Amino acid sequence: MVSYKIIKVKTPDFNMDIKRIKGMNDILPDEAIKWRRIEDICRKVFMGFGYNEIRPPVIEKTELFARSIGESTDIVEKEMYTLTTSKGGHITLRPEATASILRAYIENSLYVQNPVQKFFTIGPMFRHERPQKGRYRQFHQVDVELLGTDSPYADIEIISLLDYLLIQLGIKDITIQINSLGCKECRPVFQKSLLNFLQGVNKELCQDCRRRINTNPLRILDCKVPSCKKILINAPVILDDLCKSCNDHFNRVKDGIGALGIAYKVIPGLVRGLDYYTGIAFEAITDNLGAQNAVGGGGRYNGLIRELGGPDLSGIGFALGIERLLLLTENNRGEDGDVLLPLYLIALGEKARELFFNLSQRLARASIPNGFSFLTKSLKAQMKLADRNNARFALIAGEDELSDGLVILRDMQTKFQKQIPIENLFENIKNEIMEAEVI
Ligand SMILES: [Zn+2]
Ligand SMILES: [Zn+2]
Repeated sequence: MVSYKIIKVKTPDFNMDIKRIKGMNDILPDEAIKWRRIEDICRKVFMGFGYNEIRPPVIEKTELFARSIGESTDIVEKEMYTLTTSKGGHITLRPEATASILRAYIENSLYVQNPVQKFFTIGPMFRHERPQKGRYRQFHQVDVELLGTDSPYADIEIISLLDYLLIQLGIKDITIQINSLGCKECRPVFQKSLLNFLQGVNKELCQDCRRRINTNPLRILDCKVPSCKKILINAPVILDDLCKSCNDHFNRVKDGIGALGIAYKVIPGLVRGLDYYTGIAFEAITDNLGAQNAVGGGGRYNGLIRELGGPDLSGIGFALGIERLLLLTENNRGEDGDVLLPLYLIALGEKARELFFNLSQRLARASIPNGFSFLTKSLKAQMKLADRNNARFALIAGEDELSDGLVILRDMQTKFQKQIPIENLFENIKNEIMEAEVI
C-alpha cells in the first residue's frame, strides 16, 4: 500500500470563491487510505457471514423516507435534503439506507425465490444537521440488513456480526446494549402508560419533549437533556408490558448472544430514533477512548416491508457511521506510517525523461506503484519529491549515466547506491523491488 504525505504549505491566495458546502468533506488521499482499510475489513467480514452487497441509488422519492422513518421524526421533519422535480414531485437524498434496501428488495421481487436475503451496503447518507466533530451533512454508513425472517437466530446473528465486525476493526471493550420495543399487540399498552406518566410531568420536560408528547412520545425516553433524563428515571419500563411472544423472543436472543460470549446489558430506556423499529433494538457501546461511545446500532422492523407495499415479511439490521469508526480507531493503528512508495523515478534531461516515463508506465501496468515528476526539476528538487512520497528507492538517470548504459538505484533508507544496466531495465528493477519486499 502506498502513502501519500500531504504537505502543509502556505496557500497562495487565488480569490477562490467556489468552496465546498458546509458539512460536506473532501476525503483526501491520505485519509482515503484509512477509509479503504475500514471498507475492506467490512466487506471481508460480511462475505464471511454470507451477506451480499447491494447498491441502491442515493436519491429516492421523498415519500419512501417519510413513510418508513416516520413523519414526526427529527429526520423527516427537519433534516432531509429534498428537491422539487420539474413535475412538482419531491425527491430526497437518502438520510439512511434501510428504506432504499427494502424498496429494492420489494421492487425487484428478490423475496420470490428465497424470502431470506442478507444485504450490506456502504456509502454516503445526507442529513441537514448542525455540523460538529464526527457528525457531517454528508456522512457515510455501513449498513446491514437480514430480511425475510423473524427467527430469533436472525437477531442473534445480526448482533454477533456487529460485535465481530467491531473486534475485527480493532475496537475494544464492546458492550451490546439491548432492549425490546414490543410489537403491535403490546406496544400500545406501554404507550398508554407512558403517556399517562408524561402528562403528569409535562411542565418539567424540555421544549422538544413537550412537543413530542403528542407526536412521538417514545422518543422522549431518548432525550439527552439532563433535567429530562432525571425525570425519566421514574418512567414506566416497556419490558414490564411485553406480551408473551415478545418476552420469549427477547429471552432467546439474550441467551443466544450470551452463549456466543458477547457482553451485553439490558437497557430498558433504549429506543431508536426511527419509528419503524419493533421488538429487539440494540446499540454497540465501546469504552475505547475512556468515555462510553455508541459505535452503531439497529433493530428489528417487522411490518415495514408490508408498509412499503411488499409481502408481510420481517427484517432486522444495523448501521455504523464510518466517521465515528475513524475517530475510534485513530489511536490503535500503527502500520500506516510504515507504508512506502516502492520507487521514485528521477530523470535529468529529455532523453532520460523519455526512458523513465515509459518505465513508469510499464511498472504501473505491472501493479508496481511508482512516482515520476511531470515537471522538469533539478536533481535536488526531485530527490525531495521522492522523500515526500515516502519512496523506498530512487532510480536516477542523467546524461552521463545514459551514455554509459547505466542508471543508479538508491536505497532511500540505507543511502546505498548501485548501478543497474539499462538493458532489460524493467526486469532488473522489478527484481530489485521484489527482492526488497516493498510490495
Ligand atoms: Zn409483543
Ligand atoms: Zn427533553
